[in-house]
Amino acid sequence: MGVGVLQPWHVIVILVIVLVIFGPGKLPMLGKAVGDTVRDFKKAVTDEPKADASAASALAPGMRECSTCHKPVPVADRFCGACGAQQQVPVA
Ligand SMILES: [Zn+2]
Repeated sequence: MGVGVLQPWHVIVILVIVLVIFGPGKLPMLGKAVGDTVRDFKKAVTDEPKADASAASALAPGMRECSTCHKPVPVADRFCGACGAQQQVPVA
């Protein structure tokens, strides 16, 4: 028997203690709280680079998104500079 090794019955004992403390009715809430915490943590870790990327891809004034490659194209340009696709010129 190793000391400090988590045996399967330890997990059962912990689950029973959790059930006694929180009650079966609060287990979904507990799971949701844990899930939200993990999700928020992952979001905080992964969102920072994404925030920069979305800021960079935000269309500047006078630009619109290419319908083919979704890169910014000047509104005056009839063809996309990135993929060469013809742009739909908005009817003024
Ligand atoms: Zn394009």
